[in-house]
Amino acid sequence: MAVDADVSAQIVATIRDWVRKEVVPGASALEHADEFPVKWVDDMRGFGLFGARIPEEYGGLGLDTLTYARLMEELAYGWMSLSGVVNTHTITATLIARHGDEDMKERLLPRLAEGELRAAFSLSEPDAGSDTASIRCRAARDGHEYVLDGTKMWVTNGERAAVLSVAARTDEGVTCFIVEKEPGPSFDGITVSKHIDKLGYRGLETVEMTYTGHRVPESAVLGGAAGLGQGLRYMLGGLELGRINIAARALGVARAAYDAAMRYAHERETFGTPIVRHQAIAFKLADMATRIEASRLLVESAAAKYEAGQRADVEAGMAKLFCSETALEVATEAMRIHGGYGYTTEFPVERYFRDAPLMIIGEGTNEIQRIVIARGLMRRWAEEH
Ligand SMILES: Cc1cc2nc3c(=O)[nH]c(=O)nc-3n(C[C@H](O)[C@H](O)[C@H](O)COP(=O)(O)OP(=O)(O)OC[C@H]3O[C@@H](n4cnc5c(N)ncnc54)[C@H](O)[C@@H]3O)c2cc1C
Repeated sequence: MAVDADVSAQIVATIRDWVRKEVVPGASALEHADEFPVKWVDDMRGFGLFGARIPEEYGGLGLDTLTYARLMEELAYGWMSLSGVVNTHTITATLIARHGDEDMKERLLPRLAEGELRAAFSLSEPDAGSDTASIRCRAARDGHEYVLDGTKMWVTNGERAAVLSVAARTDEGVTCFIVEKEPGPSFDGITVSKHIDKLGYRGLETVEMTYTGHRVPESAVLGGAAGLGQGLRYMLGGLELGRINIAARALGVARAAYDAAMRYAHERETFGTPIVRHQAIAFKLADMATRIEASRLLVESAAAKYEAGQRADVEAGMAKLFCSETALEVATEAMRIHGGYGYTTEFPVERYFRDAPLMIIGEGTNEIQRIVIARGLMRRWAEEH
């Protein structure tokens, strides 16, 4: 999917410019009101961001992984929730592009690329987050249909979505279903049973969804007959891209927090000098910038490996782990640099401080990342020795 470097740089510059002019000035107000950014989502549709990773033959932009990561970084620089609106959509669209049959691809991908249909990714359950193998949601076969029953948790974009990738248990194991529904609180046995109130990542919905006797045709099985029992493999594979997205998103939040801290450190004076001249503050900024630079390199390395079609679980895990811890640390240090003002809603650092922790949890917690990385390292060691 490699695109010309100039085209890629131009798309990223366009989004960066739009984020600075439109999103940065208004993000905190929408975030505090927990309001969905209708206009900005329309703008993102106009830019083609919902089709960023969808192949051009299905109406998408067909962008490479690194360009996609840079776009997510720029969105998160303005407001992390904007990258969240695109992320689960993109994971599900990528699952369809990778494993769907031609009919599914032709029917759904062009409308997903255009943003007319929005998608969500539904793996987690109330008692199955890290432990995905303990999924209980059931899909019982009934002739040429499956009947879905169970509760899915933490479905970001779930209410507004028209397409969901849903993990459910069949006789063959966990299978991924592409469920189509009307956006809204309820549709044909699918109910949004709870809106989850969150510390940050506000403005877009994260919901609990209950399935009660919802029927889907057998063509909804991702991968067809060969996809039965392959759901976890497909969906966890999809999380490699998700983890690169989280890493890029964390980089965007860290950069925003660093810029806010650097700006404030030049403006604020104590003891007759701008605080940036106090070595204690300058050293914090030096550490923050160093971690941000290392994060950028890890995102590039993971994106390159994924783009080359190689197994990227170790690199994606490393990028996600390091970048998310960086975002948390940089947001905290930015708040310290702001002194008391950092604890107020007057400055955006309180938002970065509330948004950053999600990235140590989402797409697999950082404890789970360490397990993924360690297993991958052991596998490589065994292959090489
Ligand atoms: C705002 C938000 C949005 C989300 N959006 C989505 C979404 O769109 N789709 C989706 O499917 N999911 C989504 N998730 C779910 C997310 O992926 C899970 O919350 C995450 O995987 C952790 O699962 P859990 O919350 O059940 O924690 P648990 O699995 O219960 O973990 C609790 C603690 O135990 C640790 N732990 C668990 N197992 C081990 C182990 N073997 N070794 C060491 N430590 C361990 C964890 O690291 C964590 O610290 C979202 C979550 C949040 C908060």
